[in-house]
Amino acid sequence: MQEKGAWTRNVIPSLIDWVDRRHGQMNYYLIQGLTGHSCFGSYFKRIGKEKEVRCHHCAAECDDPEHTWFRCPAWEVQRHEMTEMIGQVYNIQEVVSAMLQDQAKWDAAVQYITVVLREKEAAERTRRQGG
Ligand SMILES: [Zn+2]
Repeated sequence: MQEKGAWTRNVIPSLIDWVDRRHGQMNYYLIQGLTGHSCFGSYFKRIGKEKEVRCHHCAAECDDPEHTWFRCPAWEVQRHEMTEMIGQVYNIQEVVSAMLQDQAKWDAAVQYITVVLREKEAAERTRRQGG
């Protein structure tokens, strides 16, 4: 797991490029996916909602934004659709740089994180109802 705060410090490599961009709307899930304040084990643990940070979608011991964006095998198909458009990416800075290049790449990343976080939210609701 990353040091607390490391993720958000690294998200926007160039604030000027981000602010000056001429395309790309933010949505709820994109903000969550970039801030890490969402359905991530790391976040749930930080706010006291869960005791463990493990991933509920694979065997990983730690679910955090990095895991969800790049590693969790549960989202391989959706991730492949994104990387078809934006190219292979290994960290969030590379995703953000690609998003800033054009609207199609922006949309591919937004689509990915929206679909994935919606599914994680739905699974989370089911877990709460069951437990
Ligand atoms: Zn996982």
